[in-house]
Amino acid sequence: MISATERREQLKAVYEQARDCTRCPLHQTRTTVVFGSGNADAELMFIGEAPGANEDKQGLPFVGQAGKLLEKLLGEIGLERNQVFIANTVKCRPPNNRDPHPNEIEACNEYLRRQVELIEPTVICTLGNFATKLLRNDMTGISRLHGQPEVRILGVRAVRLYPLYHPAAALYTPRTLEVLRADFLRIPELLALGPPEQPAPAEEEVPEPEEPREWAERPEAEEGPEAEQRPQAEERPQAEELTEPVDDVANEPEAVEAAQLGLF
Ligand code: URA
Repeated sequence: MISATERREQLKAVYEQARDCTRCPLHQTRTTVVFGSGNADAELMFIGEAPGANEDKQGLPFVGQAGKLLEKLLGEIGLERNQVFIANTVKCRPPNNRDPHPNEIEACNEYLRRQVELIEPTVICTLGNFATKLLRNDMTGISRLHGQPEVRILGVRAVRLYPLYHPAAALYTPRTLEVLRADFLRIPELLALGPPEQPAPAEEEVPEPEEPREWAERPEAEEGPEAEQRPQAEERPQAEELTEPVDDVANEPEAVEAAQLGLF
């Protein structure tokens, strides 16, 4: 667990990298990189799909109609958006709000992976299919998974992953809204469970031992029946690949940057 100061410094470094990103074609059509926003120390993180037109203009996630619904649902469980962190699978708006392409999600994944790693949330709510498939590394769709929390290892940490319908899908479909609301109401229970059991920390990488002189000088030692085994450098287990509320801060560059970094 890193200190709050360190977390912000490191998040800022990731933000500065993302701000000028040209890793995928979306940089050609975006107005602003929508890094994410909220509380850098949040226990609860939401991951949506991609910025839309409002987000692209303001540089903040979920500031349109879907964002208003998200804020309303948060309010119903006693939370404000500045208590959580909100990000997306891609940080730039796909033109005409088309779905993000796999190469764009892939190109952006490192930023999201770092955000999750630094914020260290206990619960991650994936909003809709794109985020759910990305974080679960599986193609199962949201209609089968919504409302079913599961413990997943992301990077080196275990989190409670909680797939939810995307608020945009609930805007015009009352039944989806009902389900999303019911699933949302279980978030406090999940938070109350606290962090899931964490995997054993990866062992320190042991530097390759220097070849003892004897080995070099006595190659035949390997051949005899009683030959000692050449010591193997211990391998560090491969870490598994991974896979802000904002009150009218729009158009104030410093306020947007602060919101993006959880510096309320
Ligand atoms: N939809 C998303 O998935 N993300 C946003 O930031 C806004 C709408």
